[in-house]
Amino acid sequence: MLSEPAREHAADGDAPRYGVLGWPVGHSRSPAMMRAAGLARYQRLPVAPEAFEDTVRALHGAGFRGANVTIPHKQAALAVATSASDAAREIGAANTLTFGADGEIAAENTDAPGLLAALGDRPTRSALVLGAGGSARAAVWALGRAGAEVSIWNRTAERAAGLGARVVREPIAADVLVNCTSVGLDRSSSPFKDLLLTADELVQYTTVVDLVYRAGETVLIREAAKRGIDTIDGLEILVRQGALSFTLWTGLAAPLDSMRAAAREPETPLHAS
Ligand code: NAP
Repeated sequence: MLSEPAREHAADGDAPRYGVLGWPVGHSRSPAMMRAAGLARYQRLPVAPEAFEDTVRALHGAGFRGANVTIPHKQAALAVATSASDAAREIGAANTLTFGADGEIAAENTDAPGLLAALGDRPTRSALVLGAGGSARAAVWALGRAGAEVSIWNRTAERAAGLGARVVREPIAADVLVNCTSVGLDRSSSPFKDLLLTADELVQYTTVVDLVYRAGETVLIREAAKRGIDTIDGLEILVRQGALSFTLWTGLAAPLDSMRAAAREPETPLHAS
């Protein structure tokens, strides 16, 4: 069922356009989710790195009001922007661009507040972030801002230095574990060996968050849930960052339930109106 703003936009061929910039971007659940939220003209925008800057500069002229940004363009999105929020600047990456009439491109990072929104009022006195890529930077920044004592573990330890968290040589206990590595995308293999953890060691966390998302739950989420641990999966994280982008662009409260349902629905026909 379409939300209120969806009905407003769906009938209007001149409605603002939105999209998600990535390379590749075919796997993204954002079009289904954002269309369900009300952005009827939201589409995938597959753009190779070498074409990113020119494409972004042309989007406003093509009727776009905003775009989400995913791998590998989040740093380039910040670089092309004419203004940026403190969060985007301090994290060094943007996942949301807003286009103004005079060529302004405003950069925001909703990954960081999206993680905090997903965590809600769960205990976050301490957190362990796994990974040191783009999403780990946002997670460290967000959790640090929320007052957590943040530790970081990464396969390549040197990459974890300088991100604003205590670097650890192996996973340690904490209130929250946030997997910001890409480990777990492959459904056939267990993530534990690569993450230097065992499934039974997950009991040292009150909440387990896995940013990785795919059809069906990840092994990390499944094994944590089996042990009675509170879990937040990658689709919920996707919904929360998307909800914040939606509100930024429209000024409306995001219809979280419609977005969740669409994000979780396998193979939504994206071009049906
Ligand atoms: P990234 O910048 O490419 O970083 C990848 C990280 O994974 C690095 O820390 C890398 O470690 C680690 N890694 C890769 N293979 C590994 C292995 N076999 N063993 C141990 N560590 C390994 O990626 P990202 O942008 O941070 O994204 C990470 C994951 O989060 C992706 O799956 C992405 O789809 C997902 N994500 C989800 C959302 C959401 O809304 N749910 C948002 C953002 C990202 P090294 O430094 O040692 O290479």
